Amino acid sequence: MEKVDVLIIGAGVLGCFAARNLSRYKLDIAVLEQREDVCTGISKANTGIIYQGYDQHPGSLKASLCVRASAGFQTLCEELDVAYRKCGLLMTSFGPRGDRALAGKKKQGEANRVEGLRILNAGEVYALEPFLRGGISHALYAENTFTVNPWELGIAAFENARANGAAFCFREKAVNIERDRGAFLVRTEARTFRASRVLCCAGMQADRLWETVGRPRIRIRPLAADYLVFDTQAGKWLSHILSVEPEEKGDGITLVPTVDGNILAGPTRRTVRGEPDASTDADGLRELKKKTSELLPGLPMDLIIRSFASARPNPYALEEDGSLSNGSILDFEILEEDGFYALVGIKTPGLTCANELGAYMTDRIIRSFETAPEANRAYDPIRKAIPRVSRLLEEDIGRLEELPPPYREIICRCRNVSRGEVVEAIRRGAVTIDGVKRRTGAGMGRCQGGVCMEKILHILAEEKAMDPRQVTKDGGDSLVLAPSCGSR
Ligand SMILES: Cc1cc2nc3c(=O)[nH]c(=O)nc-3n(C[C@H](O)[C@H](O)[C@H](O)COP(=O)(O)OP(=O)(O)OC[C@H]3O[C@@H](n4cnc5c(N)ncnc54)[C@H](O)[C@@H]3O)c2cc1C
Repeated sequence: MEKVDVLIIGAGVLGCFAARNLSRYKLDIAVLEQREDVCTGISKANTGIIYQGYDQHPGSLKASLCVRASAGFQTLCEELDVAYRKCGLLMTSFGPRGDRALAGKKKQGEANRVEGLRILNAGEVYALEPFLRGGISHALYAENTFTVNPWELGIAAFENARANGAAFCFREKAVNIERDRGAFLVRTEARTFRASRVLCCAGMQADRLWETVGRPRIRIRPLAADYLVFDTQAGKWLSHILSVEPEEKGDGITLVPTVDGNILAGPTRRTVRGEPDASTDADGLRELKKKTSELLPGLPMDLIIRSFASARPNPYALEEDGSLSNGSILDFEILEEDGFYALVGIKTPGLTCANELGAYMTDRIIRSFETAPEANRAYDPIRKAIPRVSRLLEEDIGRLEELPPPYREIICRCRNVSRGEVVEAIRRGAVTIDGVKRRTGAGMGRCQGGVCMEKILHILAEEKAMDPRQVTKDGGDSLVLAPSCGSR
């Protein structure tokens, strides 16, 4: 049996940031993750916006964490060497209903102490976004809104938490939890952990894991979402995040200029039977294309290079009679009983608030110990990213010469990703082709891995000393080569 002070279940962005914040203290921390890598759940497919907090109800935990997170985001990215784009957000309206909604959001934002919110008139909006369709009435401008690559952020938190002493255990699913004399026994298929505190960050599974020790209080009813990705050539059509406050009831659309220069369109909102998988929905993708071309009429639809789906963990309160509340829970919900904490159904702005939620939970957990744990004097908040050849080519070509020769051998031609980056990604924890993609950007360009996937597969097999036929695209049974293929 392994004894730890704090056991975190789930290595999504929330689990990784919780581990990072807890590692400021002298504690034995372990993180269990059922998959082979970090950020493969909800954290891998979202809109990547760092919100300022105008959309949250004043007085809510979401509002206070979001405003703080937004104010500290640039510092966080500097500590973790994560790229971000300060593009600002324009929430547009097309008539009186939308105008009223914008005014309400501005007022709400000001109540939350969000700084710099402005209502722009149509002329000001078109000056910022000349390719927008006609007929705009106004826009709420949240100038300090950022976009970030969610994987880059989560992986950075993981690497920093690990460097500060947190142990990450992959392919270890928590299958059973029971109380044991003031502590918890958490079993995986391979071993048992005894933890005095457990923090459950299990995303879609968080409600079920909570119910192994606590009274049922919340159930997650998942919804799915679809996205479209436009090639970097589409980048010139948009420089701010755009969202629409529709005149008639219904969902608008959000268009996002990403850190890498693509445009992301989405998400849709659709019901699913059971738990959502990675499948996209044809109607959802049609709806996204239609709404995108309505908003940016000149944008060529043949610049779409990818679509993907995502899962929304919608939380509902469980009533006494076993029914679910009418509306989903709006605030972040944290359940706690005798040292077992669960973050259940953390939706938007969970990515924005990941570090602040980690700090908030750390504070609660630290205060729950009878004797406060000592500070970890060796804690270092700084983490260095893998050098990105594509960024050096644009910003600092001289530095490229200082890097070892594998950084001058290009593997992914669409994104200028080198062998050096791929190998370093594997050494830092990538075990699948998508794991390499999430750390380096290889395979995210126009050809979507058509050219580089095979090369990456063989580098992975070589570095991990494994049969290339065992390399997967994204874990599980996503093998790339047929078992009958000859190995090289
Ligand atoms: C469509 C969509 C768009 C969004 N857009 C934004 C946005 O623009 N800005 C923003 O701020 N937020 C956004 N969010 C919210 C944000 O993405 C989430 O709040 C955040 O990613 C949740 O992370 P997580 O760590 O809770 O979940 P996950 O990433 O799902 O992590 C949970 C982990 O737990 C593991 N796990 C589960 N069960 C077990 C077990 N029994 N044992 C071991 N491991 C287990 C899973 O494998 C998984 O890796 C969006 C969310 C969605 C769905």
